[in-house]
Amino acid sequence: MMDEQSAQEREDSIVQIGGAKPPIGWAARQDSLAAVTGLSILLVEGRQPPAPAISNNNSICHAFQSSPKHVRLCDPYCGVAHERAQAAKGPVAYRCHAGLHCIALPVPLERKRPLAVITGRAFLTTADYRELCERFREGDLQELLSAELFQNVIFASRSDLDDVARRVLEEAEEYQASAPPSTHEEEPPTTTTTPAVERRASRVREDETRAQTKGFNGGGIFAPDATLDEACESVLRLICNEHDISSAALLLLEDEKFACASAVGEFRNRPLCLQVERKDPRMLKAAGKAMPLIVYESEEGFVPLPSRGGKKGVKLAEAYPLIIGEEVKGALIIGDEHLSDETRAQISETCHRVAFPLEVIRLKEELERSASFADRIQLFTENVTTSEPAEAYRSILQHSTELLGAERGSLLVFDEMSNELMVKAAVGARAEVLNEARVQLGQGVSGTVFQEGRPLVVRDLQAAGVSPAPAERCYKTKSFISYPITIAGRKVGVLNVTDKTEGCYDEIDLSLLESIAPQMALALDRAEWQEKATQFQLMSITDPLTGLLNRRYLEERLMEELNRSRRYEHPMSFMMIDIDDFKHYNDRNHHQAGDLALEMTAQCLKSALRSADVASRYGGEEFCILLPQTSLSEAKIIAERIRRRVERTRYPHGKNQPLGALTVSIGVSSLAPGLDTPETIIRAADRALYLAKERGKNRVEAYEDAPPESPISNVPKEAK
Ligand code: GH3
Ligand code: MG
Ligand code: MG
Repeated sequence: MMDEQSAQEREDSIVQIGGAKPPIGWAARQDSLAAVTGLSILLVEGRQPPAPAISNNNSICHAFQSSPKHVRLCDPYCGVAHERAQAAKGPVAYRCHAGLHCIALPVPLERKRPLAVITGRAFLTTADYRELCERFREGDLQELLSAELFQNVIFASRSDLDDVARRVLEEAEEYQASAPPSTHEEEPPTTTTTPAVERRASRVREDETRAQTKGFNGGGIFAPDATLDEACESVLRLICNEHDISSAALLLLEDEKFACASAVGEFRNRPLCLQVERKDPRMLKAAGKAMPLIVYESEEGFVPLPSRGGKKGVKLAEAYPLIIGEEVKGALIIGDEHLSDETRAQISETCHRVAFPLEVIRLKEELERSASFADRIQLFTENVTTSEPAEAYRSILQHSTELLGAERGSLLVFDEMSNELMVKAAVGARAEVLNEARVQLGQGVSGTVFQEGRPLVVRDLQAAGVSPAPAERCYKTKSFISYPITIAGRKVGVLNVTDKTEGCYDEIDLSLLESIAPQMALALDRAEWQEKATQFQLMSITDPLTGLLNRRYLEERLMEELNRSRRYEHPMSFMMIDIDDFKHYNDRNHHQAGDLALEMTAQCLKSALRSADVASRYGGEEFCILLPQTSLSEAKIIAERIRRRVERTRYPHGKNQPLGALTVSIGVSSLAPGLDTPETIIRAADRALYLAKERGKNRVEAYEDAPPESPISNVPKEAK
């Protein structure tokens, strides 16, 4: 019962909106404090905060609060923060389910109201942010993913959190000291001129610059919707203009390397890199002192100058760290000499100011990229599902090339029988030349990539030393990716893409390819199996010795054709063919010669028939032919043609046969009243064949000629 009640309370708390109003004048103080510190501050009187008392809310928290389903996740954190702060009678720090760090503080703003403030709602590490992004992208929070989600993402260091907590408490004390009578009023608050408020106002002014530092747009240096490139360029331009600097570069951490994001002057148009660790103490120390770290340029990039001794004969530069929390996220390199300490401090300050917003843009772009990856992969999976193998190969290739913006591409599949790669599909120029081409393992780009099992990304053939271009790649552009496809460690093929519509292929394209690789491998595997199944299926309906269809297939087809003929009142005929004295042939010339004779006979049948006729090996040295839309008289003519053809064929030992040649006897039957089931029609042909044998072999007999006293249903199957 208790549990139910508290559960109900929880439900209520989750949806509680627009509760009690904040004490007069507090909201404005809270707003300016939030602006100064860049962190969220919200006043709570119960579980969730009343809406009007939230300042600078983290857009991620806002998304959770706006979704009744997801706000439940916040309940054990911000939901109970008020209670916990009241119980502790002091600050309570916690990290919520979303990885945001918060501090809850009891604030004695009014004597009778147990109010508390939750502040922070900030990420302390990008790892936390990244983890949450994964949940938005592929995990339990996919429904919340929207553009607004990232409008105000807050990052901070632990000391920022401690700082805001201290300031909130100070502010609350000052508020109490100067508070008007305890009535609730609508905003805006009345301006007071008490000394405490004066003090606060002057501090806010002092902090004006700092207030900008946490803003999402780097304090107005770049537009809120700027791309990372644009933002980096704006930062660099601002610093260069303000301090009259001619050579500078902004390097950001990307895949564990500090690579150039934007450069001017002597650093332009060349690869730049910075050799420091992510938590490099020298960089952290420099940032703490608001001074640059002296670096020199070596072959590996900019290297910090050894603290003692220096380094003779090298040109020095200054590196201004971009720090978030305890991590170096980038650095501004300045090549100009003789900067004043004041200028250096100002540049350090700007770097400090832009570090957060730049990192947020970078992460946002990363997420957007991966979100669009996810969409495109989904599309790929949906589109390559097809049952026909050739179509599947074509579809896999087409979707891969579309995904990677490639004008040309080819898909090669490993053929176990020949131990080669076979081109199963090709698109773009020269595609027809490539189709069905074979590539030896270890040869050419595809053969090598397949054998080594490692993808090859070439931005520029010449620069990569792959010049001259491999013969099989007469590319329009000099960039390509050759990607080995494996499934459960088994190599199955190679995908090649080239002639990118825009720019050249790089690691991003490779990672895109990597993310579709499992789906691609599965689709390929499925297509391979499908192809094999088609072969097996074909094998199971054909006779391996003669290549004719087998008895099982014939019986099925016969049923089908009978139904069709009855429905459309078409004639239909059937033939049973038996080699004369074949036992004799076999006994005298051995089994292998007999087999060859069977193959030769099958050949005679095939060549004498029309495409609609169905020839099959019925068993032993007996063959059957189904003749759709053929009357008995027509069938007799065809049968005669077959008989003659066999008779005239020079079988290796034909002359030694009792009749002086290898011959066949043929029984013909036709669809007629009482002869309208597979069974009766076969028996009728069999009966006619028996007659042909009886009448001297090497002849054709039709069932109509069979003696009427032998009712068809009584003719024993083997009677001949
Ligand atoms: P008839 O034409 O008058 O019916 O006499 P026959 O000798 O052809 O008839 P029979 O049914 O007595 O013998 C058929 C022989 O065909 C028996 C077997 O040696 C041979 N035979 C059946 N299947 C095969 C086969 O797959 N390969 C070979 N080489 N011989 C086969
Ligand atoms: Mg026989
Ligand atoms: Mg025979």
